[in-house]
Amino acid sequence: MNIRNFCIIAHIDHGKSTLADRMLQFTGAVTDREAREQTLDDMDLERERGITIKASAVSVKHVHNGDDFLLNFIDTPGHVDFHYEVSRALLACEGAILVVDASQGVEAQTVANAYMAIEADLEIIPVINKIDLPSARPEEIALEMEQTLGIPADDCIFTSAKTGQGIGELLAAICDRLPGPKGKTEAKTQALIFDSEYDDYRGVITYFRMMNGKLQVGDRIRMMGTGRVFPIVDIGKFTPKMTSYKQPIEAGEVGYMVANIKTLDDVNIGDTITRDTDPAPEPLPGYREPQQMVFCDFYPSGDTKFDELRDAIDRLHLNDASFTYQPTSSEALGFGFRCGFLGMLHMDIIQERLEREGNVGIVQTAPTVTYEVVKTGAASQNSERVMQITNPSDLPDPSQIAEVREPIVDIEIITPNDCIGDLMRLCETRRGQYVSQTYLSDSRQILKYELPLAEIIFDFYDKLKSITRGYGTMDYNIKGFRKDSLVKMDILINGTPVDALSVIVHKDKADLRGRSLLKRLKEEIDRHMFEIPLQAAIGGKIIARESIKAMRKNVTAKCYGGDVSRKRKLLEKQKKGKERMKRIGTVDIPQEAFMAVLDPG
Ligand code: GDP
Ligand code: MG
Repeated sequence: MNIRNFCIIAHIDHGKSTLADRMLQFTGAVTDREAREQTLDDMDLERERGITIKASAVSVKHVHNGDDFLLNFIDTPGHVDFHYEVSRALLACEGAILVVDASQGVEAQTVANAYMAIEADLEIIPVINKIDLPSARPEEIALEMEQTLGIPADDCIFTSAKTGQGIGELLAAICDRLPGPKGKTEAKTQALIFDSEYDDYRGVITYFRMMNGKLQVGDRIRMMGTGRVFPIVDIGKFTPKMTSYKQPIEAGEVGYMVANIKTLDDVNIGDTITRDTDPAPEPLPGYREPQQMVFCDFYPSGDTKFDELRDAIDRLHLNDASFTYQPTSSEALGFGFRCGFLGMLHMDIIQERLEREGNVGIVQTAPTVTYEVVKTGAASQNSERVMQITNPSDLPDPSQIAEVREPIVDIEIITPNDCIGDLMRLCETRRGQYVSQTYLSDSRQILKYELPLAEIIFDFYDKLKSITRGYGTMDYNIKGFRKDSLVKMDILINGTPVDALSVIVHKDKADLRGRSLLKRLKEEIDRHMFEIPLQAAIGGKIIARESIKAMRKNVTAKCYGGDVSRKRKLLEKQKKGKERMKRIGTVDIPQEAFMAVLDPG
């Protein structure tokens, strides 16, 4: 049988999940009656947010010009935080379907995904989707793809995942244009792990692409990264549901296996599976560990006990090993966990899942990035001297610091022409360094900057969206660490330093940040029976002060200045969780105050 392994890549909301569903329906893998919206997006949260969090694999049979084809396809997540999952999924394929919305055109993640596919040496089938929309401009968008990505406009296939138009043509193109897999079943076994999930009954289910060799039930496998050995107790394919196979899964095929693996930590996405006896001489290239870039603390709030929070986090971690956690404690907030995430969206998702599925109340501290701190002193102990810091309160005394480095990203923004000036100003105020500006079409440009990650983790994206009236999109990649004048700013409430409110800021922006932060705290903290002084300090020196006046009879509602959806979301969250309050000394501090430190002012 002919095999085609491919993935579907797109900017978020351009229709890859819908297109995947339509293809399943077209090939009869799911009947019309069975078909429901978004078969591939299982998780409640995915449905609600309309995003794909986990990649899924599906296989379908298709007859093309009288020949039988097995089409294995993988639905990938489209958000920046999940770059890594996308890049792994790509390596399991020979081809990629690049979906672009016929009314939106090329967006930031279209470009990022296309580059990843080109890098992985995949054959690309460009698809212009949503041609049923009245605002669709398929020919124009095809030209845009040619100009920006060098993909010939004539190669584009026009589809509507909504009406089914063009789906037959797309399936034909997959069979005709994509190459079949090259691996050899006789060669030593190498299977690429591109995804995994935890099942309460079966333990870890590993998704793999057999690159060379074969595997069947009873074989003993070895993870080449960790050296750990497991027996295969079940192995099979997706048709589209997981289906056990007694016969071996061979080179070129995509499948799943269950191998008595108890924790996702034992299965590293991107790692190579081989046979325990007669192993492959080397693993498949390009594996790296996913990197957590954004960190914050979770503390129990309301009725939630520390143990309950720990259980909830343990349980969630079984399902998502890409966030990290370790116990921590704060003078102000007591015992909790320091958690690491792939990005801001990932952090939001984990927090929401903990509260929803784990049924716990959480106070979350403001997210920070990882800093590299070079300590002064014995130059010979080089490795000892650089420490990674993910919590501002861990920053050593200034006298012990030789330099502080922060993560820098390459950011690529696609925007309508008329917003360029405002966007450049936004990047400049966030300590950005201009890189380039190029035309995408008559009306849109690609703007590139280098920016500190710390400057974009909170509301950069919201700002970009509001400046561009929703039309701007962005994508970023970590470029490396760079030294800058970074200092720790402490916050004192009623004379007590609150460690969970400490932030690392750029020296030149400290005064401004200090003042705006105290203003925000003043808005967030309710009046008490006594006056509450608020202070910002750097190395013991007070750089800003404010105070919250003692309560009078008539307390007016708090007034929130500023803008947009994020704030509304915070307000809703606040309504939901009045119990999200922490008492520090004699002062009650709401959750929002801990997030207030993020406001870049
Ligand atoms: P994904 O984020 O790329 O997976 O996008 P989805 O498949 O979730 O689709 C995003 C939205 O676009 C959903 O509301 C879909 O119903 C809608 N959509 C997808 N394909 C089409 C199409 O061909 N035509 C129209 N009108 N809407 C579509
Ligand atoms: Mg989707």
